[in-house]
Amino acid sequence: MNNTVNKIGLILLVIILLPAIVLTSYQFFSISEDERIIEEIYGNQLNAILFSVNQYSEDVVSEWADQIDEIIRDTENNPSLLRTRIVSFLNSHNSINLIFLADSLNSGNQVFPSPFIKYNEERNSDFIFKILDSSRTIVSRLYNYKKADYRKLEPLVNNITDKDVVIIFLTENKGLTSICGIMLNPKQFSEQVLSPKIQSIAQNEFIISILNENTGEILYQNANFPGELIKHRRPLWLVPEGTIGIFLKDSSIEELVNSKKNSFIIIISLLTVSLVAGVWFVFANIKKELKLAQIKSDFVSNVSHELRTPLALISMFAETLEMGRVNSDDKKNEYYKIISQETNRLGRIVNTILNFSKMEAGKRKFNFIETDLNSIIDNILNTYKFHLQNKGFTLSLDKCENQKAIYADEEAVSEALINLIDNAIKYSGDKKELFIKTGFDNQYSFIEIADKGIGVKEEDQKKIFDKFYRVHTGLVHNVKGTGLGLTLVKQIAENHKGSIELNSKFGKGSTFKLKFPIYNGNTEKN
Ligand code: ADP
Repeated sequence: MNNTVNKIGLILLVIILLPAIVLTSYQFFSISEDERIIEEIYGNQLNAILFSVNQYSEDVVSEWADQIDEIIRDTENNPSLLRTRIVSFLNSHNSINLIFLADSLNSGNQVFPSPFIKYNEERNSDFIFKILDSSRTIVSRLYNYKKADYRKLEPLVNNITDKDVVIIFLTENKGLTSICGIMLNPKQFSEQVLSPKIQSIAQNEFIISILNENTGEILYQNANFPGELIKHRRPLWLVPEGTIGIFLKDSSIEELVNSKKNSFIIIISLLTVSLVAGVWFVFANIKKELKLAQIKSDFVSNVSHELRTPLALISMFAETLEMGRVNSDDKKNEYYKIISQETNRLGRIVNTILNFSKMEAGKRKFNFIETDLNSIIDNILNTYKFHLQNKGFTLSLDKCENQKAIYADEEAVSEALINLIDNAIKYSGDKKELFIKTGFDNQYSFIEIADKGIGVKEEDQKKIFDKFYRVHTGLVHNVKGTGLGLTLVKQIAENHKGSIELNSKFGKGSTFKLKFPIYNGNTEKN
């Protein structure tokens, strides 16, 4: 039966748990894939936002270039008006520190400093010369674009001044192509020009930050936040060392995905635990049902055996007597005795079963009276001594002289003791010795029924008090029984607030000790 149960357990495990495990792992890996896709989409969206800020900054500077173009065109014949107009332009754009005009040979530079800065003429004209000189390829590229009628803005890498950014484009000055440069303060440009745009894009949902990658200085950020945590960064087109970064304000997409992943893992773990618990529950129930079915069938076959033997004997001897085949009175008496013994045996079996089922249903009534174990055992032995002798048993009886009274149903206690004595007879094998002892301790009066028989293995000692349980090894196989005797003894003991204890060594014998509370006149307590 164990094999079948294990097989069922294994099948259940495979049927229920395997799909759960497969589903869990599939979900787990697909969530990583989802995470990658979400991150990719999210990354693209962030790029689009950063692109729009870059585009905006280029549009702004391009519009400035248009205005400067227009000023140059308007003042072609009036150089002093050119300066006035450019200074007025600078007045209204205070992120621009300086505008310069240079011809293709990088000579005859005209410099228009902002009225908001301290201007050092010598240093700056020198600086313009140097910066244009070091950016010849860019300048020649601008000329190529110009030929294709396309005006482009180019930021120059500025190794010369500390912070300022130089953006150049080509313009027409008195019929000649000149280089026009706008020197910007990137911090002011970010704060004054880009910030409104950034704020309208960020909408309190994103943190957008402009950073000087070289120095780590934050040029502008729409909210307070550690800039180094903003990992999603792109170059700021017009500021060579600048980058623009973006971050989802409340939690990053990684955190969102991770929290989703974590809750998924928790849910799946709980689900798996409940599945395992479910499998275990179903398995335990099936096991119990199978065991019960086995017990039932064992019980039916055991009881049938138990009933068949006495019935066969009774019918055989009754028939023999009925047919008048027995002539000697001795023989007749012997046959009557056998019939009466077997009828008693039948009665006991039927009583055991009936009493067990009454007890199970809680319907057994007890007739409690003050009595003592010595008188009960005396009564039993009066009728049982003969039976014991017949079976070849020697009895050693050790009764406590001043035995304490108990409050008990004599019939029930007798039934329990007869069961114990019967067992001692059944499970003694060849060592036919029975020991009965009464006594008391602080709280209990007790009676011990001991034999030198086959004994009970340690692992079976608790189980033998369970309903229908019979030890299925060794000698016991040959002895018939219902498996209800000890259950009944235990039930009777418990109904008297007493107990049954077993002390046994396999192969050496067993001692059953039945204990009842000492009667102190208080029927409630007992
Ligand atoms: P039954 O005797 O009808 O099988 P019991 O409930 O009286 O049922 O006993 C349960 C089992 O306990 C027995 O099958 C037997 O294996 C074991 N047992 C009971 N009494 C003894 C004993 N005195 N010595 C050894 N084994 C015992």
